[in-house]
Amino acid sequence: MEYVTVIGLEVHAQLNTNTKIFCGCSTAFGAPPNTHVCPVCLGMPGVLPVLNRKVVAFAVTMGIATRCTINRESRFARKNYFYPDLPKGYQISQYELPICEHGHVDIDTNGEKKRIGITRIHMEEDAGKLSHLAGRPVSHVDLNRTGVPLIEIVSEPDIRSPEEAGAYLRKLRSILRYLGICDGNMEEGSFRCDANVSIMPAGSDTFGTRAELKNLNSFRNVEKALHYEIIRQREVIEDGGAVVQETRLWNPDRGVTTSMRGKEEAHDYRYFPDPDLLPVVVDDAWIQEIEAGLPELPDQKEQRFVGTLGLSAYDAGVLTADRELADYFEACLESYDRPKPVANWIMGPLLGRLNAEGETIAASPVAPADLAALLKLVDDGTISGKIAKTVFDDMAATGKAPGEIVTEKQLVQLSDTSAIEEIIDEVIASHPDEVAAFRGGRKKLLGFFVGQVMKATQGKANPKMVNEILQQKLQ
Ligand code: ADP
Ligand code: MG
Ligand code: ZN
Repeated sequence: MEYVTVIGLEVHAQLNTNTKIFCGCSTAFGAPPNTHVCPVCLGMPGVLPVLNRKVVAFAVTMGIATRCTINRESRFARKNYFYPDLPKGYQISQYELPICEHGHVDIDTNGEKKRIGITRIHMEEDAGKLSHLAGRPVSHVDLNRTGVPLIEIVSEPDIRSPEEAGAYLRKLRSILRYLGICDGNMEEGSFRCDANVSIMPAGSDTFGTRAELKNLNSFRNVEKALHYEIIRQREVIEDGGAVVQETRLWNPDRGVTTSMRGKEEAHDYRYFPDPDLLPVVVDDAWIQEIEAGLPELPDQKEQRFVGTLGLSAYDAGVLTADRELADYFEACLESYDRPKPVANWIMGPLLGRLNAEGETIAASPVAPADLAALLKLVDDGTISGKIAKTVFDDMAATGKAPGEIVTEKQLVQLSDTSAIEEIIDEVIASHPDEVAAFRGGRKKLLGFFVGQVMKATQGKANPKMVNEILQQKLQ
């Protein structure tokens, strides 16, 4: 039996405001436990929440960027449950009337565009953090995170594979980071995802029963957990059983999902409108102001890189996935106007080096202007493309400008015809057997001679000239 996979994702993005959503406490990460707290976020009796205007602006920003309808009036609701990280006994969230609805993002899957619907985006507060001490019957509670603003972005069940789920998450993260409203760090928990997944027989139009997967703290884990869960559900069905609706926990060490609890239903939470908070009203003028301030987003940038700069769709996709990377690329173009070689150098040597060190472009050891200067030295014939690679490594290691390294190490390309001829004559004189073989038809030996000349010049001879002169002399 063939099955179709159906996936819908719930993403929580921590908004990088300076203060919490309903009080003036700092949202800074890493402070000593329970130092960024006040009566409001501790849920003391008699206090009143005051909505942080910036949270609304950020939620609207994401709504516009994902083509949502922005509701001119939305409401906060109380989601009631007990847990030690939730001092009020309820989380302030949005339920019936979220701030944004009916949007979409486009993802790339196998070179094709696919549209994933966004059901809703709502604002809510984060809970605190529990730490369970290994080997001791003690749990600690840190409420610094209580009341930190989040948006929850709920997708339609439009995703059909773990790889599409990964592409969707990367796109959301990219948009959030372009907008500067969330740092998108999955490992540190500022970008979190719960994945709902079910399977149904191919051709069916009724979705299967879904499981909700939690504890997915990296892109890799999201995809791995989904792969595991799809196979598990298929085995349950093929063994004559039925998938039960439940919340399952991904165990990254064992590579399995295990049942955590039966799925709670919305009515279990006794949602009701929060009587302490007024309806949230956003007017047209505010929406227009936010829209006018939006930066160029990844899709638009990608189109411009292809349409105006002539990059391939693949290169444009890689370079625009991260805003800082796109900015770096464009900064290089300010002093060197050939997009393709710049893209090649960034995507090859530079990213190769950064990836190996687990770093991003923000940590680039080579400034854009220096990379541009290096490419100019190749174009004007000062150094060969091959030497440029070693100069680049030197630049990355020392932070020096390319011109300085070329002068210091005397790497200027040898383009003097008579000097090259002299070296070629020596190489020919000292390899009579190879010369005879070449003249006898083994034309592949040309590479051998080029190699010998390059060796004799420490790679500095102009390779084009070496080829031409060798061809003539070996006739
Ligand atoms: P809950 O809070 O109960 O998890 P939400 O409506 O917030 O419910 O989120 C439900 C998520 O599950 C959405 O992303 C939706 O697309 C997805 N979903 C709904 N039904 C299915 C299904 N049968 N299979 C997979 N995903 C589903
Ligand atoms: Mg859910
Ligand atoms: Zn507070």
